[in-house]
Amino acid sequence: MLRPLKVLLILLTGAMLPAESAFSLDPNEQAIVEAIDASLPEAELLLRELVDINSGTQNLDGVARVGQILKDRFDALAFDTRWDDGAEFNRAGHLWAAHGGSGTRFLLIGHLDTVFASDSPFQHVTELDGNRWRGPGITDMKGGDVIMLYALAAMQTAGVLDQISVQVVITGDEESRGRPHAAANRTLLDAARWADVALGFEDGDGDPKTAVISRRGSVGWQLEMTGKPAHSSQIFRPDVGFGAIFEAARILDSFRTELSDVPLLTFNPGVIVGGTDITLDGTTARGTAFGKNNVIARGVSVKGGIRAVSPAQLDEAKAVMHRIVGENLAQTSASLTFSEGYPPMAPTEGNRELLAVYNQASQDLGLGEVRAVNPRRAGAADISFAAAHVTMALDGLGLMGYGGHTEGETALMATFGQQMKRAALVMYRLRDCSRCRDIGT
Ligand SMILES: [Zn+2]
Repeated sequence: MLRPLKVLLILLTGAMLPAESAFSLDPNEQAIVEAIDASLPEAELLLRELVDINSGTQNLDGVARVGQILKDRFDALAFDTRWDDGAEFNRAGHLWAAHGGSGTRFLLIGHLDTVFASDSPFQHVTELDGNRWRGPGITDMKGGDVIMLYALAAMQTAGVLDQISVQVVITGDEESRGRPHAAANRTLLDAARWADVALGFEDGDGDPKTAVISRRGSVGWQLEMTGKPAHSSQIFRPDVGFGAIFEAARILDSFRTELSDVPLLTFNPGVIVGGTDITLDGTTARGTAFGKNNVIARGVSVKGGIRAVSPAQLDEAKAVMHRIVGENLAQTSASLTFSEGYPPMAPTEGNRELLAVYNQASQDLGLGEVRAVNPRRAGAADISFAAAHVTMALDGLGLMGYGGHTEGETALMATFGQQMKRAALVMYRLRDCSRCRDIGT
């Protein structure tokens, strides 16, 4: 019976305190917040150092240097660390770090590489003002890498890091995945299979009021049609048929009419060549075509992409597309293949629960509500590979800002410490969480 009164008193007391005062934090949480506040100047120095090193995906030395600096920092926190060389998949490699043997198992995901190559004019941090720092990869996602490091360091300072188990995977090829995927993804997938909960430190949609519980996957497809070449005057005869171009038109229009109303599913034919003689280069996406008005087209090639919100939605869409492709017009044939891509991160119940804990931690920190970002605004990312193997996953825990993947990439530094506090609190609060336990996926 005392409870409503107690809540009211807490609310009243809270209302009188400054916004960031932690009236609903326990002493350990209070210690975490204090450790983060004390470490911010040091964290900002590290962020500046990392952003000033070019680590475009193909700059293997630069990616490895950023990895080495972070590796040293995790070593200093008494983590086990390892550099997984990327020669097998033509990239620099991945940093792996681990700590602890009890409590909930967390996988923290970052990446070392950026989209800015070593010859890009955009190479260094510029302070636009106290809050806005511009720099290549500052939000995508060296800021997130530093946030995860200092969230863990603060938990160690507060004496609670030993209550959880952590594996950190900071990949060297997020912006351009190495191939084969099986080799490039091994470090991440091994850690995901071990983990209960995955936390991604990407910048999400850049808004600290949102986090990512669902990302659409992105997969490429290629469609090949063949028809019977003959004089056009004989087209539509049962033994001559319709030719490859009518068959391509039928298939693409059926894709559109049967699938374009599915919520959160999109697909797009990006390039098409058709005629008597055609070429289409899979790597450069350039092609040539030759054909004549009076000759029935022999071939058509189409390359496209598809984005789906869940593995089930992608599978259903693929099944519909394959059925359509199989319903050939007379004297034509068609084949559809899908390439390796990023799988979807489905908006599961577990992900929603994790967001609820994150949202509560944010509010208890005086940092306001956090809601789920629209999956159409969240691109594919490393957590997409991990999500299917954990009970709960949440991304967008990194440094917030705007202009990612452009020379206007800008961090809002006020969110730097805030994101560290939210991440550390969510790990601390889920330290002993039976609902998080991953029973072997
Ligand atoms: Zn990124």
